Amino acid sequence: MRKKILAGNWKMNHTGAAVQTVLTELVQTLPETKATLIIAPPFPYLAQAVSLTAHTPLHIAAQTMHWEEHGAFTGEVSPAMLVDIGVTHVLIGHSERREYNGETDRTVQQKVAAALQHGLTPIICCGETAQQRQAGRTDDLLGTQLRMALAKVRMADASRVIVAYEPIWAIGTGQTATVAQAQATCAFLRRQLAALYNSDIAATVPILYGGSMKADNAAALLAAADIDGGLIGGASLQAASFTAIIRAA
Ligand code: PGA
Repeated sequence: MRKKILAGNWKMNHTGAAVQTVLTELVQTLPETKATLIIAPPFPYLAQAVSLTAHTPLHIAAQTMHWEEHGAFTGEVSPAMLVDIGVTHVLIGHSERREYNGETDRTVQQKVAAALQHGLTPIICCGETAQQRQAGRTDDLLGTQLRMALAKVRMADASRVIVAYEPIWAIGTGQTATVAQAQATCAFLRRQLAALYNSDIAATVPILYGGSMKADNAAALLAAADIDGGLIGGASLQAASFTAIIRAA
């Protein structure tokens, strides 16, 4: 039985005062849950977020990182730096990073390997555009994204990753994938994991859905057999909307 995971991706939102307010409220109003809870604030607030959530069920994730250990990479943050300040998870290959920051299946592959090497849990994001879905290319594309992301991950480490399926047309649009669409694609990704590794690993790896998840659609999505949680953008920005999803799960 896989544990549910709810991860909030704050993207480029909130400054220090809001980080303080939202996380404090979240900690104070956190519902009783078996789900693993993760929040990914922007880089400047990661240390603050780690300290505000110490000794609570909340884990803190970075929204990206570099794969190199250190060196002449102006503006970048290394896996060791994240570990050093108490970050436990990292989003890798979010579609916004792929679109605006030149991330490719190849950089995703290097980042996933680096995260695991440093003891960080990578949340590997994959997803298709509306055109790709209409053209019937979804499975083909996601199969490639997943295979490339995991190419350097040995069998022994494969169960340490989290996969997030985020149809690009559903992100920030209010247009959630239907339960049937999300379930079918997450089931496809699980079959790919079985083909890449084996059925035990496929049964262990959590697969999240992301794309306009909110309290009113979360319960139905999270009840689907192959959807093990959510990667939540807009609805994770306020404590009340995030706790509403936790309750729905
Ligand atoms: P959204 O974002 O919930 O605002 O659609 C999801 C994501 O991009 O992770």
